[in-house]
Amino acid sequence: MGAASACFLARDHGCSVTVLERDPLYTRASSALSASSNGP
Ligand SMILES: Cc1cc2nc3c(=O)[nH]c(=O)nc-3n(C[C@H](O)[C@H](O)[C@H](O)COP(=O)(O)OP(=O)(O)OC[C@H]3O[C@@H](n4cnc5c(N)ncnc54)[C@H](O)[C@@H]3O)c2cc1C
Repeated sequence: MGAASACFLARDHGCSVTVLERDPLYTRASSALSASSNGP
């Protein structure tokens, strides 16, 4: 959610955005762990 918000704010609204992420490879993020990110 945070990465997507940063992307759209920067791309569509020209905002200067800083993402503070403790897990830069998203190894423990729900988004990376969910079924849709792990393929069939
Ligand atoms: C095993 C599993 C299966 C799932 N399957 C489904 C499904 O089939 N369908 C569905 O709709 N949903 C599913 N979900 C739920 C869905 O994946 C999540 O609700 C969604 O991805 C959450 O996105 P998010 O961006 O809010 O959180 P996340 O992807 O977890 O991102 C949060 C980020 O914040 C960072 N963060 C947290 N605290 C801090 C801090 N203090 N400082 C800096 N960074 C911080 C974390 O490192 C992480 O990268 C599943 C979840 C899991 C775990």
